[in-house]
Amino acid sequence: MQLPNNANNTKNANIAKELYDIVIIGAGITGCMTAYKLAGYNLRVAVAEAGDDVARGSTRANSAIVHAGYDPVPHTVKAEMNVKGCAQMPYICEKLKVKYRACGSLVAAFFEEETAALRTLYDRGTLNGVPGLELIDAARLRALEPNIADSAVAALWAPSAGIVCPYGLCIAAAEAAAAAGTEFFFDFSVNGIVKDDDVFHIAAEDGRVLRARCAVNAAGAHVREIALMAGEDNFPVRIIPRRGEYMLLDKSEGRTVSRPLFSVPTDKGKGILLTPTVDGNMIVGPNSHVVDSPDDTATTADGLAELTEGAARTVKNLNTRAVITSFSGIRSTPDSGDFYIKASDTVPGLLHLAGIESPGLASSPAIADRALELLFAMGLKAEARCGFTGERPPVIRMDELDDGAKQRLIEHNPAYGRIVCRCEGITEGEIVDAIRRLPGASSLDAVKRRTRAGMGRCQGGFCSSRVAAILSRELGIGMEDITKNGGASYILTGGQR
Ligand SMILES: Cc1cc2nc3c(=O)[nH]c(=O)nc-3n(C[C@H](O)[C@H](O)[C@H](O)COP(=O)(O)OP(=O)(O)OC[C@H]3O[C@@H](n4cnc5c(N)ncnc54)[C@H](O)[C@@H]3O)c2cc1C
Repeated sequence: MQLPNNANNTKNANIAKELYDIVIIGAGITGCMTAYKLAGYNLRVAVAEAGDDVARGSTRANSAIVHAGYDPVPHTVKAEMNVKGCAQMPYICEKLKVKYRACGSLVAAFFEEETAALRTLYDRGTLNGVPGLELIDAARLRALEPNIADSAVAALWAPSAGIVCPYGLCIAAAEAAAAAGTEFFFDFSVNGIVKDDDVFHIAAEDGRVLRARCAVNAAGAHVREIALMAGEDNFPVRIIPRRGEYMLLDKSEGRTVSRPLFSVPTDKGKGILLTPTVDGNMIVGPNSHVVDSPDDTATTADGLAELTEGAARTVKNLNTRAVITSFSGIRSTPDSGDFYIKASDTVPGLLHLAGIESPGLASSPAIADRALELLFAMGLKAEARCGFTGERPPVIRMDELDDGAKQRLIEHNPAYGRIVCRCEGITEGEIVDAIRRLPGASSLDAVKRRTRAGMGRCQGGFCSSRVAAILSRELGIGMEDITKNGGASYILTGGQR
């Protein structure tokens, strides 16, 4: 197999000279959690990501639930990874200083006939080893969720579930890995892989090449393309992209429910869900529709109507006037129904982390552990990295400081006294820090994911131009070259085209 013709025109000639122990393809939660766990060893690791930032695939847009593990079919890889991942999540979030809420989750039945499905989930969860599951009656359900619709008859209570910020977790894992030396290559859309003398040559569309002894395929909806590029002609996993749309409601509605509230699932998914976010908003969604393109993250009027209808059956007094935005994510649903976490039989040194649909976020710490076990079984040798604590470089969040600490910080750096995003109260100092950290933000959305500037009620109407000006100053590029989310998503006309 040949590398693409432009692979010799390396944008950065130094890159091709480095020999990494491992190149991870894809910087979603699967790739970044694997990089994070690998950072505990003295290995040379690079992450190649097609987007301009981490968390650009499913990890950007999902329900943000650390599922307890009652949903996957027993004895599947998915069931094992889910329960193990969920158990690790509070500890990992504590280490990475990522907001996590141990709120439990509920699945509600609204007809007597649906209670049999709750029992099935309970039995499954018990077999999977989920701790503390209970079937509860309508009175207890109403005490936990006073806004539940009057028709609710019973529920499954899963106290070990929680909520987390998915892209926040991904960014934090990437930052901790970067602090230990992991290198991130963005806008690196892998389009050719050749193995030569036990070394993978992994080429990007723009001609850059990374060389490594092992390659990890964590490309989400694009895992099959990567596998075929690497020479896995009989790769068994086919991905069916299924889009899930969401509505995000203002913080004024954040208390409509206190925890993820599902309806009894159907063959299409876990039902329309209402859940608080760790930042105090509420999300409603997702629906589930097969789409032609794994990158089709549009939202549709019909889809949003479906969400409103589903949510109105679950709770009373849903205030849809408080919807501040809508978004969608693509599930990388494998045709086998299970995660495919396996070393390649035909291409030595290649590891697939494929078919990572829901609950891939909840499972990510366990998937990463399994990835490391497999890499070591493949012959990778490494010593523990001296001094690695698993923590990320500290992040200042003004809203978490008391008045005295704020005052001292502003005296030291006045940028922390200049509010840029009024809705969320985000300062210039926090935005500058987000740009300067590693891997740093280089687009409006990347700043938003790190700081919440632009996430509030006005959705960036007020602060976007000011964030763009800070990005322009910090990155040393013109305003016309600032993008919303990388690529050609310029926000002003006249940028490089
Ligand atoms: C609607 C929806 C709801 C969900 N809800 C939950 C939930 O509540 N809880 C839960 O646990 N899970 C949930 N999930 C699943 C979870 O989001 C995914 O399992 C998880 O994000 C998968 O992470 P990943 O890193 O494997 O894939 P992704 O996040 O998709 O990352 C793959 C990365 O690979 C990159 N890439 C692709 N091709 C290339 C290439 N050629 N070169 C370089 N890079 C490439 C992409 O740009 C992307 O950044 C949900 C998913 C969806 C869509």
